[in-house]
Amino acid sequence: MSNYTCQKCKAKLKANEAYEYRGAFACAEHFDEVIEMRDFERNQIAEEEHNKTKVFEGLDLTDSSIGKANRKLLKRHIEIAGKESQRLKTYERGDL
Ligand SMILES: [Zn+2]
Repeated sequence: MSNYTCQKCKAKLKANEAYEYRGAFACAEHFDEVIEMRDFERNQIAEEEHNKTKVFEGLDLTDSSIGKANRKLLKRHIEIAGKESQRLKTYERGDL
C-alpha cells in the first residue's frame, strides 16, 4: 500500500520514506532535486500567467462600447487567462 511516488525516479515509497514538498513526493535521495523541479515549475507557471495577462494591459475592457468590442475580440485570450489561473490554483493545491 504505497501511495507515494518519487517525482524524479518514480520509485514507489512508503509513507515513512516519502518526503513532501508543495504536494510533490520524493525519496530521500531526490528530495533536493524535486524541490528544485517544483520551484522551477512554479516559476514557469507564474511567468506564463504574467505573459497571458500582459495582453490586456492598457486595454479598455469596461462596459463602454470600445470595451465591449475589445472583450469580444479577446474572448479567447480572456478564456485562456481564466484557465491558466485555474491551473495555478490547481498547482497550489498540489493536484498538478
Ligand atoms: Zn527518487
